[in-house]
Amino acid sequence: MTSLKLEEILKDEPKYRITQVYKLLYSDFIENWQEATILPKNLRNKLGRDFPLEIKAKLFHSKDQKTIKALVYLEDGLATEAVLMIHPKKRNSICVSSQVGCPLGCKFCATGKMGFKRNLSSDEIISQVLLFARLLKRENEKITNIVFMGMGEPFLNYDNVLSAIRIINDKGKFNLGTRRISVSTAGLPQAIRKFSGEKMEVNLAISLHAANDKLRSNLMPVNKGYPIRKVLEAVEEYIKKTGRKVMFEYILLKGVNDRTADAEELSVLMNHPLYHLNLIPYNPTGDFKSSSSREIDAFKRVLKARNIPFTQRFRFGVDIAAACGQLACASTPL
Ligand code: SAH
Ligand code: SF4
Repeated sequence: MTSLKLEEILKDEPKYRITQVYKLLYSDFIENWQEATILPKNLRNKLGRDFPLEIKAKLFHSKDQKTIKALVYLEDGLATEAVLMIHPKKRNSICVSSQVGCPLGCKFCATGKMGFKRNLSSDEIISQVLLFARLLKRENEKITNIVFMGMGEPFLNYDNVLSAIRIINDKGKFNLGTRRISVSTAGLPQAIRKFSGEKMEVNLAISLHAANDKLRSNLMPVNKGYPIRKVLEAVEEYIKKTGRKVMFEYILLKGVNDRTADAEELSVLMNHPLYHLNLIPYNPTGDFKSSSSREIDAFKRVLKARNIPFTQRFRFGVDIAAACGQLACASTPL
C-alpha cells in the first residue's frame, strides 16, 4: 500500500483524486474499493485490481474483551503481531511491531527469543494501524494512541518506522498528532541522536530494566555495546534539543531487579526533572518470575521517598499472550 504506487495508478486522473483516495483509505477506512462510490466505476475496478485493501489477519480476544491481538500475515509467509488495548475513558491505543522478531535478544522478551527474521516495510507497519482503525470504526471508535512497543527494535528499522509515523501524522492521511505516538527503544545512542533532529514531537521511551551495567548487560545484551552512560548521554542531547520528557521503562523481575537496593540505585539514575519512570509488571515468558505486589509496593515506597515520578503500567491481554514482551508469533495458537 505505498503512496508511490497509488500516485502511479492515479497519474492520469485529475489532481484531486489522490486527496480523495487518501481520505477513503486513511480516514474513511474503506475495506473494499467498491464502497468508494465517489470514484468512477472503472477507477474502482482498477484500484481493486492494482491496490487491494485486504489485510489478512487472525484476531484473538482477551476474556475481558479489552485486548485484541492481531496476527497479521505478510506476503512472504511470515507474520507479525499488533495489539489493541481498549482503556476506560475512550482511549484506544494500539501497539505495533516494527520487525519480525528482534536481533537484540533481551532475556525476558519472547520476541527476543525468537531471533530476527526481517524488518517490516512502512506499508506493513501501516497495515497494522489500518486493521485496527477499520475494526474500531465499526464501533464508531478511533485509535487515540500508537506505541511502537510490539515486536522488534524500531530504531533498527529507522527509516521505515519514520515514514510510517509521517503517514500516521499527515493531515491528509491518518492525521494523528505526534504527541499521541510513542517509540520505545532498547537504547541505541546514534539513533536517539538522529531522532532528536526529526523535529517531530513523538514520545521517546527507553527500555532500561536495570540501574547498573552488570545487570543490564546480563538482561539486555545490547548494553555490552551501549552501556547506560552512553544511552543517557544521547538522551541528554535529545532533551537539550527537544525540551521533551523521556520515559524509562523498568520491568520488575522477582529477585533480579526488584529489591529496595535496586530501587535506591534506580532513584539516583532517574533523578532528572524530565525523566519519567514506568514500572512494568513482568509478563511471563518463561525465565523469570513476576514480583509480588508486596515487593512492588516496597519498591515504589523507595521511589516515592526519593521523589522519583513514576507510573505503573496496567497489564493487558496476558491470557492471549498479547502483553508486552509476549509477542512471538510462533507461540500463538493458530
Ligand atoms: N524493542 C523495543 C520496543 C519493543 S519491546 C524496546 O525494547 O523498547 C516493548 C516493551 O516491552 C519494552 O519496554 C520491553 O522491555 C517490554 N517487555 C519485553 N518483554 C517483557 C515482558 N516479558 N514483560 C513485560 N514487558 C516486557
Ligand atoms: Fe527486542 Fe525490545 Fe524484546 Fe529487547 S525487549 S528483544 S529490544 S523487542
